[in-house]
Parts: sequence; structure tokens; C-alpha cells
Amino acid sequence: MDNREILYSVIVPLYNEESVIQETYSRLKRVMETTRGSYELIFVNDGSRDRTLDLARTIRSRDNRVKLLSFSRNFGHQVAITAGMDYSSGKAVVVIDADLQDPPEVILKMIEKWKQGYDVVYGRRLARRGETCFKKITAKLFYRILKNMADVDLPVDAGDFRLIDRRVCDALKSIPERNRYVRGLIGWLGFKQTGVDFIREKRFAGETKYPTQKMIRFAADAVASFSYKPLSMATYVGAIVAVSSLAYLILLLWEKLFSGAAPGWTLIVALSLLLNGLMFICLGIIGEYVGRIYDEAKGRPLYIISEKDGF
Ligand code: UDP
Ligand code: MG
Repeated sequence: MDNREILYSVIVPLYNEESVIQETYSRLKRVMETTRGSYELIFVNDGSRDRTLDLARTIRSRDNRVKLLSFSRNFGHQVAITAGMDYSSGKAVVVIDADLQDPPEVILKMIEKWKQGYDVVYGRRLARRGETCFKKITAKLFYRILKNMADVDLPVDAGDFRLIDRRVCDALKSIPERNRYVRGLIGWLGFKQTGVDFIREKRFAGETKYPTQKMIRFAADAVASFSYKPLSMATYVGAIVAVSSLAYLILLLWEKLFSGAAPGWTLIVALSLLLNGLMFICLGIIGEYVGRIYDEAKGRPLYIISEKDGF
């Protein structure tokens, strides 16, 4: 099929998804058939260590609307999405998780909105099923805190499950940033946006590929790429500490001069530990930004492809 004719590209990032890939493929196929438009399904294998790649190859060999990109190792979810976009050719591009937490049927609603003239249609999670309380609470907090900190308008409770127009996809490709928080970058681009509500289902099978540590990294990436507030917070903390230390010192001198009293050991040690702690936190915040600057400066490619089929 001529690539220029493709109407919809559906990008599915896959990391150790052997237990869901077949079902996801079937459901996506069923949904995309009902659109009556030409489409491509782009599987991006993000360095899986299980049978995901084999299964993807088999699916691809039976259906030439399926295309396959495979990374040489695990580069991360956001990078996998980016690669899918780089290789997509549809007039509308949909990103969806592989685990069927994002119901494929919602894509039809997104397409409707796109046809009404919206360039970005994001999925808004009204509720989440089958996720831990911890995940629900931290996710809710994360989106709200980020919205408050960020200088661009970022919709809350919207993940990467969304449809974007070709123009948005091309604009996104022109952003070379390494620490990619894709949903934020799409917000930064602007364009005409709207959301469709859906209920986030339980994972079809397998386990989350976002353990707590990865989640924290992801959140830090989001904050660092969209806000300088943590840096200025360090400045404020420093200023408050400096001013109050000076006031306390004057008070101590006053007492020493007029009543001869002096603070004991315990107080001195406690204060010194507190200040050192604060200092390290501030250094850490700066470090988070410096590390990211270093990443950008090195200018390494975002991902390495070891296998490509169907493009
Ligand atoms: N994923 C990926 N690379 C990773 C981690 C995750 O491509 O390093 C994919 C994963 O296969 C899934 C999507 O990103 O399609 C979302 O991951 P998951 O469902 O595990 O995250 P959760 O829904 O628990 O936040
Ligand atoms: Mg999931």
C-alpha cells in the first residue's frame, strides 16, 4: 500500500507484553476495521526480554497493516512512542498502551472529534480500575501539582492515550529534546485540543512496567522539563534560612552579653544537621537539572533500532 494513503497510524509501545500482545492486536484490528479508513498498526518493541518480539513478528507476517520497530535495548516508554511517531505516516496518529487499560473503542470517539476539526484529542481518565490506592493517589496528585508548576496548560488525568493530527506529529518531531515528557510537549505545542472521557480498565494481563522507581523518574522528568519552580524554591529556602539564622544569631549574642546564657550541644548539632540536610536537597535539585542539561549536551540519538519491518 502506498504510504501516503494511510489515514490512521496506531502506535503501540511494548515492553515485555507477551501476555497481552495478541489480544491487543485483535481488539485494535476490530476497532480499526470499523473506521473503514486505511490504517497502520505500529508495534514498537522497547527491548523486551520475553517473547514479545517473536509474537510481534508472527502477527506482522500475517497482516501487512502491522509494522514493527524494535529497539536494541529498553529505551523507555516515552522514547518508544516518539519512535512510533517518527515512522508513522497517517493523517491522524493514535498512541495507545499495549495492556488494554486504554479501551481501543475510545479511538472511534477520538476520530469523531478529529473530524470535527480538533488537532489533539486526549483521553481523560474519569476513573481507574484495578490499580493500587497508592498509584491512584500519587497519579491524582502528580497531575495537579504539575499543572500548578508548569508554565504551559497541561490537562489533568490525561495520559499518552490520545490522537494527534499529522501537523502536530510533525511539529513534535521537530523537538529534539531528550528528556521527553510527550504529553507535556504536545501541550506546549498548542493547537486545538479537546478531551474524551473514558474509564481506565484493569490491565488485561501481566504486570505494570512502571515500578515506583520508574514512576518517580518519570515525574521528575515531567517537572524538570516544564518548570523551573524547584530551582527558585531552593533560592527561597536559602533566603529564609539565611535571614532566620542571622536573626537567631543576634538573639544569641544578646543573651550571651546580658545574661551569659549559651545554647547547649544538642541544639547546635540539631541545627547543623538540619541546615546540611536542606543544603543537600537544594544541591540535589540543581543536580537534577544539571544531569538533564548534560544529557541534552551529549546529543546522543534518542533510540537505536535493531529491527524494522514494514516501512
Ligand atoms: N512501556 C514501554 N517501555 C517501558 C515501560 C513501559 O514501552 O520501559 C509500555 C508498556 O508496554 C505499555 C505502556 O508503555 O504499553 C504503559 O506501561 P504500563 O501499562 O506498564 O504502565 P501503567 O499503565 O501501569 O502506568
Ligand atoms: Mg498500563
